[in-house]
Amino acid sequence: MNPKRIRILKSGKSGDGPTAYWTSRDQRVEDNWALLFARAIAQETDVPVVVIFCLTKEFLGAGRRHYEFMLKGLQEFEGALSRKRIPFVFLRGDPGQKIPEFVREYGIGALVTDFSPLRVKAEWVEKIITDIEIPFFEVDAHNVVPCWEASPKQEYAAHTFRPKLYGRLSEFFEEFPGLEPNSESAEILSGNGMLEVLSNTRETGIKALLPERISGKSNDSLFEPEHFEPGEKAARKVMESFLAEKLDSYRTLRNDPAKDGLSNLSPYLHFGQISAQRVVLEVEKTKSDPESKKAFLDEILVWKEIADNFCYYNPGYNRFESFPDWAKKSLNAHRDDWRKYIYTLEEFEAGKTHDPLWNASQIELLRTGKMHSYMRMYWAKKILEWSESPEKALEIAICLNDRYELDGRDPNGYAGIAWSLGGVHDRAWRERDVTGKIRYMSYEGCKRKFDVKLYIAKYSAL
Ligand SMILES: Cc1cc2nc3c(=O)[nH]c(=O)nc-3n(C[C@H](O)[C@H](O)[C@H](O)COP(=O)(O)OP(=O)(O)OC[C@H]3O[C@@H](n4cnc5c(N)ncnc54)[C@H](O)[C@@H]3O)c2cc1C
Repeated sequence: MNPKRIRILKSGKSGDGPTAYWTSRDQRVEDNWALLFARAIAQETDVPVVVIFCLTKEFLGAGRRHYEFMLKGLQEFEGALSRKRIPFVFLRGDPGQKIPEFVREYGIGALVTDFSPLRVKAEWVEKIITDIEIPFFEVDAHNVVPCWEASPKQEYAAHTFRPKLYGRLSEFFEEFPGLEPNSESAEILSGNGMLEVLSNTRETGIKALLPERISGKSNDSLFEPEHFEPGEKAARKVMESFLAEKLDSYRTLRNDPAKDGLSNLSPYLHFGQISAQRVVLEVEKTKSDPESKKAFLDEILVWKEIADNFCYYNPGYNRFESFPDWAKKSLNAHRDDWRKYIYTLEEFEAGKTHDPLWNASQIELLRTGKMHSYMRMYWAKKILEWSESPEKALEIAICLNDRYELDGRDPNGYAGIAWSLGGVHDRAWRERDVTGKIRYMSYEGCKRKFDVKLYIAKYSAL
């Protein structure tokens, strides 16, 4: 593994106990650079490795659909780890407090975590650094080119980022080694009566694991969970069927929301149930149409990784202030423009606007947990057009995206919304009322692109 993928968050002398990998963004056993690194340093000192997950009561507005998807994935993760004699530890509470407590109680010798550019993870990491005495490492297991290596600053646009990313790709784009099991003789964790074992809940059901706030209420009555089966195995299947059946026509079908032409990998990528690098490795092996491969790689490499770049170098990623100056100036100049429609969060949420196309996209989101990528742009841009201010629009778009998209609460979401509403990674277009110089999308434009009626028919009834 290229050592530039790893950063030392806290240096120091390793203790004698096991190495712990605190999994957060990359919840998988296969193709996981953070777990592989933890295993490697454990092997150097001849200690076992353990994996910890810490469940918080609240996470950026996540709902039942997210917790269930993630917890089922974690149960499978635990099973796969146990076949390698690697214990999985399930903690509850604030990771900033619980991880140091665990480190002390179980005499952990070194700690590893995966990288996320979101503020919430950075805050936990800061707390942990001040509260432990052992070495603490961070590994970018989510991006092909580690975020801090791809660029040292916030990139202006995909065309400025693309050459930098591709310029560094060969240094990091390598096949993953297999994960070595813990040795049979390893004394792993003793006296761990406090530890919850996820597999025990297979009988009682996943409900027993949900945080109380979630288990009591359901804002997800319309959700049809059958659209996305959680877990690493399911993620593999989704990838394989995409490679075999859809990649070849990705270039022509990807902008057609009435057809099923996308990979549908984003929920799995978001929870780290599959590695983007694995997907890219497998895409490269296919003999699919080269233009389709190029278009797909541009999304999963350039657009996905520039989203991390945006959130990492611009911690105000979910605020109006993060928009480029030209966009802020233009939106400010149109604040007081007359708006034909203004909807509340509740009206948007229920899919009750005057526009059947917009409503259909919201219903697709409520039901399936994943809106088509082309519709996400239209959806967000109309929220800007039909809200009382850009700030309100941003708040509504982020709230609904994070509440209902299975892949929500992700840098891709903050960057995608900032692109749609605030011109981030885009340029100025012809000026209009309300939306200023932000790129505009219309119902008529959609009609020219795809069969709008077919899409509406698919998602019209609640
Ligand atoms: C307003 C708005 C909100 C969005 N919210 C999210 C979100 O919360 N989470 C999320 O993962 N993506 C988000 N996106 C980006 C994109 O729409 C989704 O990644 C895509 O729809 C996922 O479906 P897929 O995996 O089938 O896509 P595919 O087209 O098959 O793409 C494969 C992968 O490439 C990456 N990718 C594709 N398009 C983009 C993009 N525009 N930006 C960044 N990465 C991309 C994703 O990782 C995706 O899973 C948003 C885009 C917009 C405009």
